[in-house]
Amino acid sequence: MNQKIEDTRTDIKSMSAEELEEFVVKLGDKKFRGAQIFQWLHQKLVTSFDEMTNLSKALREKLEKECRITALRAEAVQVSKLDQTTKYLFELYDRNLIESVLMKYHHGNSVCISSQVGCRMGCRFCASTLDGCVRNLTPSEMLDQIYTIQKMSGERVDNVVVMGSGEPLDNYDNLLKFISLLNSEKGLNISARNITVSTCGLVPEIFKLADRKLQITLAVSLHAPDDELRKTMMPIANKYSVSEIMDACRYYILQTGRRISFEYSLVRDVNDSEDCARQLISLVKGMNCHINLIPVNPIKERDYRQSEQKAIHAFKNKLEKNGINVTIRREMGRDIDGACGQLRKSYISG
Ligand code: SAH
Repeated sequence: MNQKIEDTRTDIKSMSAEELEEFVVKLGDKKFRGAQIFQWLHQKLVTSFDEMTNLSKALREKLEKECRITALRAEAVQVSKLDQTTKYLFELYDRNLIESVLMKYHHGNSVCISSQVGCRMGCRFCASTLDGCVRNLTPSEMLDQIYTIQKMSGERVDNVVVMGSGEPLDNYDNLLKFISLLNSEKGLNISARNITVSTCGLVPEIFKLADRKLQITLAVSLHAPDDELRKTMMPIANKYSVSEIMDACRYYILQTGRRISFEYSLVRDVNDSEDCARQLISLVKGMNCHINLIPVNPIKERDYRQSEQKAIHAFKNKLEKNGINVTIRREMGRDIDGACGQLRKSYISG
């Protein structure tokens, strides 16, 4: 994480309403101005102090000097002709690039956001991690992916999935702040139940998150039912074993009452055998969980191939016959695809 952030002014969009109230009092103004600013930023989604017309000119000038407002700039937008899925490449204030995706489903609009610039987890099948992690995203940079997409598309965002580039639990404090801002009644008011956080399985952070008892959905990227195979796909498996992850997940379910989602990307001749399915069943049997099978999206830097349709369906059927909740993830925006992180990759190495 070596990218220098040059603008040292306060990141005002990452502040809670209470923090903003304290902040304006310190600037010599009335407390209630904090709530007004919060509403401008998180409900009316303005990106300049000039637009905050119910504040005095003097306060606006002070804010301008002390603070910056995170506002992402769309560098590229790709729309799928098949299903309207839209991929956004955003530029941050320090010129770093991140990706976000808008997906339209019958049950509402979902936005998939990034939590870091790049990623340091090193999963073998993933494009986001090829150049390592540049830096964490701030709460405002996570929020602004949603705000900018809502403004650009004119669509109300119903669900948010933190499943883009980065490992959200590797950016734990900013993630929690982001969630509370997104939940805020004075902001977009997106409830925890409509937020999913996906992790490669950072065990201590899963325990920590469980204790917060948030009603978010936790998705855990399992991808292999045993340590030996998992280590060949995900370096993090050298640090935490599958059994430690399962203990953490059971604790999460106990503390939150929420069902866990397991992601399992199917790779041809790697983790799609009948034996893998059998092991996976004994791992999750009786647990309040759901398994999401993702036909792996091949990236050119690696030799992983997608499982054959026959193998995918056989894997699913085997789980189903054993009473496990399982779905095959629908592939959205196939024509604009390239796996997660590939759009950014093509820009930074181009
Ligand atoms: N770091 C988090 C979230 C980002 S990845 C995590 O590991 O969960 C979101 C999901 O997409 C994860 O399950 C990840 O393993 C999966 N994924 C990444 N690259 C993929 C690819 N090329 N094909 C299929 N799934 C992929």
